[in-house]
Amino acid sequence: MALRTIVKQGDECLQKVCRPVTEFNDRLHTLLDDMKETLIDSGGVGLAAPQVGVLRRVCVVMNEDEEIIELVNPEIIAAEGEQTGLEGCLSVPGRYGIVTRPYVVRVRAQDRDGNTFEVEDEDLTARCFCHELAHLDGQLYVEVADRMLSDEELEEYIRQMEEEMEEDED
Ligand code: ZN
Repeated sequence: MALRTIVKQGDECLQKVCRPVTEFNDRLHTLLDDMKETLIDSGGVGLAAPQVGVLRRVCVVMNEDEEIIELVNPEIIAAEGEQTGLEGCLSVPGRYGIVTRPYVVRVRAQDRDGNTFEVEDEDLTARCFCHELAHLDGQLYVEVADRMLSDEELEEYIRQMEEEMEEDED
């Protein structure tokens, strides 16, 4: 396994519609293993293949039990409700925006061996499914955000996160 470099906003890889995976081979398995390692190293909750420069329909999402779900050729087959909340992206470091997404999302995908499965989740993980799948169609959340946080709001948010982390340490 190896860490891959995460490309940043402005890189053309992030604007492309990715191609479906047709071969479920060692190369795909290595990509998935590397993406998982890169996700854990980055401290994020989701990573899409175009973010590491691979224009294929592959992403990994960490759910709230901290399990990483591998999604190959994923599609959203059902969505319900609505949530409006904070979103960030490993390819847009240091920025956060307010984005409205469905509250519950059901995804159909293939696993690393090509077997089709379905997964449903809500709240932050549903948000993450939407965010990562959008990457596969060349869309960044900043394009669909209700608004981006101002510098003051961002400082306030970082201060709150630091306080929460200090509380966790006690
Ligand atoms: Zn992202």
